[in-house]
Order: sequence, then structure tokens, then C-alpha cells
Amino acid sequence: MARDTKNNSVILGALRELDSAIEANATWLAKLHRALICGSDIEPSMVAADGHLHCVFGRWYYQRNPDDWEQWATQMDDIGTLHEHMHQGARRLVELRASGAVGDTAFDEFTDQALRFKLAVRALQFQIISEICLVDHLTGIWNRNSMFQRLTEECQRMLRTGKACFLCMIDIDHFKAVNDTHGHLAGDEVLQGIVRIVKQRLRPYDSIYRFGGEEFLVCLPETTADAAIAAMDRIREDIAERPLPLGNGGSIRVTASFGVAPLSTTLAVEESIEVADRALFCAKAAGRNRVCRWDTGAGAPSRRT
Ligand code: GH3
Ligand code: MG
Ligand code: MG
Repeated sequence: MARDTKNNSVILGALRELDSAIEANATWLAKLHRALICGSDIEPSMVAADGHLHCVFGRWYYQRNPDDWEQWATQMDDIGTLHEHMHQGARRLVELRASGAVGDTAFDEFTDQALRFKLAVRALQFQIISEICLVDHLTGIWNRNSMFQRLTEECQRMLRTGKACFLCMIDIDHFKAVNDTHGHLAGDEVLQGIVRIVKQRLRPYDSIYRFGGEEFLVCLPETTADAAIAAMDRIREDIAERPLPLGNGGSIRVTASFGVAPLSTTLAVEESIEVADRALFCAKAAGRNRVCRWDTGAGAPSRRT
């Protein structure tokens, strides 16, 4: 399941900062190579014992706002370590140059350190870009882009394991009235609150996606229809019973409707979702704040030809 994520502007800022960091490091490397190859003087700060603190990348790295990088703390720690190693390697090369013996091995070790550092920064950039593309930044859960790929993988797992998987479409009841009465900001907080409640009840290998607006899709692998329906009914009760806190100190009570259907290995993923959506429609038609299953008037899945 996706971790909670920062908003887009923080994420885009992080990407820009990483890009500048790579550029600054390339300039530092070019200066070092120039000195080593041309025999020119090296700025003492470049190869000081604490040089990793004073290069352009180091200054940025050690002075950045940790809150903005909290969700990538592990990757940033690794990058810091690799950066320090790279500086140690540079210092060693300069010492060897002073004694007139920069050998192949020492040089290769240094270029390897420099490459590992650059690859780690690039990997983090790639991860951040993936998060922008695949995560819904209001709620921190997977968005619709990632849903089809993951559900297709889930179908393949079902074919291998023979274990059933169920989908549940969740739609907040009368959500437009929440926005109209309390404003869009409160509406957003309700969406976040609903996701918190649903996630508390999911198992580690279940997943939840923001399908659109106030609709969420939950995927429940390795379960039975009865267990899936019981799990969704517990969530329905939680939502109906717990007032959702608002930033202004108030709270809102809402309900939600649920449509459960099997994820079928013989239907396209979109068709299985459609069946869950029809079950949801039945829950709405039957009065809302309830869980309906696909075979209670919601239409049985048709077989793909
Ligand atoms: P029903 O019980 O039939 O589902 O009624 P509803 O009011 O929940 O459904 P409707 O489709 O009429 O309204 C959905 C509302 O959700 C309208 C739209 O403005 C709102 N909405 C969609 N996305 C967001 C969002 O990201 N934030 C907020 N605050 N509102 C959103
Ligand atoms: Mg809706
Ligand atoms: Mg709704």
C-alpha cells in the first residue's frame, strides 16, 4: 500500500533540487578530473576531511529541510553515505597523486564510488516521478493509473495460486451535499478521513485505489466472498459510526455504499470493475449505507469471448 505522500509542489521541488544536486556534482567531478589529468592545483576544500560538507551538493544535502524529505529518508541516508565515500575516494586519489602513484585500481575504485552515488540519486528521482504518476496526492493511496496494472498482476497471481480475489467499489453517500454545506476543503478532509478508516481495516496485502472523485476501489486477494463482504461491512460500520475530524475543529458524519464482486480471470479487469460498480449501484438504489454483492440483482459477469 502506498505511504502517505507530500503534495505535488513539495515533490516537484524535491525533483528540481535533486537535478541541481546532480549538476553540482558533475561540476565538482570535472574540476577534480581536470586537476588530476592536467596536474593543476586542487582547491584544498575539495579534498579536506570534511569536504563532503562543503561542496555544493553537501551544502544543499546537509542544510535541506528534513520534513520535505521524510518519506525518502532511507534513500537520502544512503545517498549521503555514498557521497561521503566519494569524497574520501577523491582525497585518496589526490594523496596518491602527491606521491606520484595514482594506479588503475585506485582510480577505478573512485569512479565506481562516483557512479554509485549518481545512480542512487537517479534512482530516487525515478522513484519520485513514479510516485507523481501513480499516487493520488490528496489521499496518499494508489491512483487509477496504477490500478489496472496491479489488478492485472493480481489476475496472474490468481491463475498461479487458484485463490479467489474480490473487488469492492466504495462510494461516499451524498458527498456533494458535504461540499455544498461545509465547503470543498472539508470535503477533501472527509476523503482523507475515509481512506484512513478503510486502511485501518485492510490486511497488508490488500490494496486501495482512488477510482475517481469520492469513489474508491479495494482489492482483497486470497479471500472468500463471505469474508470480503464481512470485511467491507465492518468498514461500512466504522465509517457510519465515526465522526470525521475537520481542521477547523468540527467534525462530519458520513456514510458510504459498497459493491463487492469477484476479480475474474476470464473477464477483462475493466469488466470485473464494472460488475462491482453495478453492485454498488444496487446498494445506492436499496437506500445507501449498505454492502451489496454482485449476484443480488447486480448482474452476473458475462464471459469474455
Ligand atoms: P451519491 O450518494 O448518489 O453517491 O451522491 P453524491 O452526492 O455522493 O454523488 P455525486 O456524484 O452527485 O457527487 C459527487 C461529488 O464529489 C461532486 C464532486 O464535486 C465531489 N468531488 C469529486 N472529487 C472531489 C475532491 O477531490 N474533493 C472534493 N472536496 N470533492 C470532490
Ligand atoms: Mg460517485
Ligand atoms: Mg457518492
